[in-house]
Amino acid sequence: MLIDSFDRTVDYLRVSVTERCNFRCQYCMPEKPFSWVPKENLLSFEELFAFIRVAIDEGVKKIRITGGEPLLRENLDVFVKMIHDYEPDVDLAMTTNAYLLKGAAQKLYDAGLRRINVSVDSLKPAVAEKIAQKDVLKQVLAGIEKARSVGLRVKVNMVPMKGVNDNEILDILEYCKARGMTVRFIEYMENVHAHSDIEGMQSEELLDIIGSRYAFEDEGFDGHSPSHYYKLADGYEFGIIEPHKDDFCKKCNRIRMTAEGHLIPCLYFDEAMSIKDAVKRGDIKTAALILKEVVKNKPEKNRWSDPDGEHSKRAFYETGG
Ligand code: SAM
Ligand code: SF4
Repeated sequence: MLIDSFDRTVDYLRVSVTERCNFRCQYCMPEKPFSWVPKENLLSFEELFAFIRVAIDEGVKKIRITGGEPLLRENLDVFVKMIHDYEPDVDLAMTTNAYLLKGAAQKLYDAGLRRINVSVDSLKPAVAEKIAQKDVLKQVLAGIEKARSVGLRVKVNMVPMKGVNDNEILDILEYCKARGMTVRFIEYMENVHAHSDIEGMQSEELLDIIGSRYAFEDEGFDGHSPSHYYKLADGYEFGIIEPHKDDFCKKCNRIRMTAEGHLIPCLYFDEAMSIKDAVKRGDIKTAALILKEVVKNKPEKNRWSDPDGEHSKRAFYETGG
């Protein structure tokens, strides 16, 4: 079992398979980075999987494939199958922008994937295009429908931004509610890579908007999920991810791995250790020691709640959010 210095059990690994992306979301990667990680520096699926086996053997029970845009990596279903076949009981999920999902959904399902989270920041084609800097909406919605039709459980992530999509909170909630999909509103996390104009919204503001149309009850947190859940009178549940709340990190159970093998104990901070050399040498023992060291060094909490805190230097497209 992996336990950090604040007595939190770490059993959730987020794996970014690429930092590259086919969108340029204003809050994440508004411009193409100066340079991409060269392809030869990326770990192969076999190498990523070699570490994932270590992590599962050490107690990881939940794995999320993310990016950048994970579906840009060819044969992702083969990677899904490696993990699923090694430990079918691992809770395996993926986060995607869904642009390429229509063509990939069936293969991913057949490989063992059952859950995906899709980012939908607007249901208006022009607003979605303004956020992603690409005409994306039709393809994203088609990807969601295809995923649902093959049996994937879909949750939606939305990052509300003032003056951009703040008038679509109820529309997105209702789009999801009509399809029985959970929506999670993610408070924008300030970072130096995002467009400097962005002003995010806090949970209180979102609840005011939702409360103007619906009565809801506070359901609290579900296990270690970062999402604070609320229930409407008809039983529909939605979530808000509130990294600006002081106690957000209290139950954090996550670490992250980048596509080049950096293990990251906290999304906010720069600190990381690499398992790349160990994995390339096949030195599983050292990889396990590095994993334990990273877990031991997991910071107590992020600094998004600190009014004097600097913006995080971590790129979300590198860590996978
Ligand atoms: N490309 C995929 C996608 O967009 O779903 C996966 C990677 S993306 C980095 C993972 C999640 O991080 C998405 O739900 C995205 O909305 C969220 N995200 C990215 N930048 C963010 C920011 N600055 N604040 C809050 N959430 C952010
Ligand atoms: Fe790409 Fe996802 Fe970042 Fe948007 S949020 S730029 S889709 S990685």
